[in-house]
Amino acid sequence: MEVLYYSTRSEAKPIKASEAILKGLSDDGGLFVPDHVPALDKSLKELAGMTYQEVAYEVMKLFLTDFTEEELKGCIAKAYDSKFDTEVIAPIVEAEGAYYLELFHGPTIAFKDMALSILPHLLITSARKNQIQNEIVILTATSGDTGKAALAGFANVEGTRIIVFYPKNGVSPIQEKQMVTQKGANTLVVGIHGNFDDAQTGVKKIFSDKELAKEMDQKGFQFSSANSINVGRLVPQICYYVYSSAKLLSEGRITEGEKINVVVPTGNFGNILAAFYAKNMGLPIGKLICASNENKVLFDFFRTGAYDRNREFMLTSSPSMDILISSNLERLIYRIAGNDAKKNQELMAALSGQGKYVITDEMKAGLADFYGNYASEKETAAIIKKIYEDCGYVIDTHTAVAAAVYEKYQAETKDETKTVIASTASPFKFTRSVMNAIDEKYDSMTDFELVDELSKLANVKVPNAIEEIRTAPVVHDKQCDADEMKNVVREFLGI
Ligand SMILES: *Cc1c(COP(=O)(O)O)cnc(C)c1O
Repeated sequence: MEVLYYSTRSEAKPIKASEAILKGLSDDGGLFVPDHVPALDKSLKELAGMTYQEVAYEVMKLFLTDFTEEELKGCIAKAYDSKFDTEVIAPIVEAEGAYYLELFHGPTIAFKDMALSILPHLLITSARKNQIQNEIVILTATSGDTGKAALAGFANVEGTRIIVFYPKNGVSPIQEKQMVTQKGANTLVVGIHGNFDDAQTGVKKIFSDKELAKEMDQKGFQFSSANSINVGRLVPQICYYVYSSAKLLSEGRITEGEKINVVVPTGNFGNILAAFYAKNMGLPIGKLICASNENKVLFDFFRTGAYDRNREFMLTSSPSMDILISSNLERLIYRIAGNDAKKNQELMAALSGQGKYVITDEMKAGLADFYGNYASEKETAAIIKKIYEDCGYVIDTHTAVAAAVYEKYQAETKDETKTVIASTASPFKFTRSVMNAIDEKYDSMTDFELVDELSKLANVKVPNAIEEIRTAPVVHDKQCDADEMKNVVREFLGI
C-alpha cells in the first residue's frame, strides 16, 4: 500500500515520499509524517538471516513506496559500503547486562552517518524521479559534527555540491581539522568571522533569497537541505532497530516475539522517534527509554506534559544532545493529538511565542510507550569508569548518558526486559571527556596522545576517521565575513 506524507501543520494534500525528501520541510513550516506506519511484511525469523543492506531494503521499501526496487537497492548499496569499517555496519556488543548497538562505524564515527551516508543518494534519486535536472546544492551551517557528516555523505556524489559554513573560532580543533581536510571537488568548507548563529542566519537568508534561486535555476542549480527533520534521514534510522532485533534473534539472545527495551541518548528526538516507528511497524519493543543530559527538557516533558524551553542552556560533555528544542518531537505531538494539524499548529505557535506548551491528559496517555530520565555530568562520567572497570568496554559520553539512565530505569522499575542501548558515537570522538572520566591523570596529555592511550586501554584500533586527520593535508582555507556568504556561494557555483 502506498505511503503518502502529510505536513504536521496543515491539511494540505499529502505528497509522495520522493517529494517529501526533496522538500525537507513543508511550506507551512511543518514536518512530513507518513499517513500510516506500514507493518513489517517479513517475520523477524526471515529478517534474521539477512545482511544489514537487505534488512534496510525490507524496511525502506515500505516507507518510500514511490521508489523502485532497483532505485532503493542502488541507494542502499552506495551508502552502506566500505565507508563503514565493519561489514555488519551496526555491530552489537554485550556489556554490563545490556546490548550496545554501535551506530558509529561510518566515516565520521557517529550515528549521523547512518542516515547521512544514504540521504544524498535518496535526494538525487528523488530529483530524477521528479524530472528535476538541476544539480542539488546542499547548504549547511554547522557548529561541528553535522557539517562533517554531511560533507562525508555528499563528497563526490554526482549531481550534488555541498557548502558548509562554520564559525571560524567556534568549533574544536579536531572538528575543524575534520572539515578542512575533506576531499571531493564538489565540497566547499568556509570559516566565517562570527558565531554559529551568524552562520545559521546567513544560510537561512541565502535559502530564502528568491532572486538568487531564480538565477541558480537558470544556471542549473537548486538548493536543498540535509536537515535532521528530512524524511530521508528518519526512515534510514528505523532500519537499525529492526536489524538489531533480527541479529539478537539469529544469535539466540532473544526468542521470537520476545520484547526488548530500547534506550536512546536523545537531542533532536530523531533517533528515538525512529525506534517508535519500528515499534509501530510491529517490531517487539517494550519501553522506549529517552535519555537526556542536563538539558533535560524532555525528561520534564514526559513527567509533567509541559514542554518548556525557558531555562538555562547547559554546555555538557555530550554536546550533540545540548538542545532545548527537539524538533522531531513535533511528529510525536501531531500523532498524540490524533493527527490533528490544527491542534499541533497551536502548540508549536505557543512554543515559538512563549517558549512553552502544555499537552492535554488525553495526549499524555499517548506517551505510555516512553520513559524519560536524565543523567548529570557526574553520573555520566561515573558510568564510563564503571563499565570500563567492570568489562573493559569504553563508551562515549552520549552513550554514557543512555547507560546511566538505563541504570536509573532499572532501579526504579525492576524491569528485567533485555535492553538495547543505542551507542551513538565512538569514544575516540570525545576522547578527552572519556579519558578524564576514567582517570584524572590523563588531563595533561595532548589530544593525539589520548587517542593512543585510549586505543591501548580499550584494546580497539584507532578508527580511520581519526588516523586520517593526523596526517591529512588541509584543502579548505577559505574564510569570510557573514555578509559575504552569498558571494562565496556564487563564486563556488560559477554564477
Ligand atoms: C545527534 C546525536 C545524538 C542525538 O540524536 P537525536 O536524533 O538528535 O536525538 C546523540 N548522540 C550523538 C553522538 C549525536 O551525534
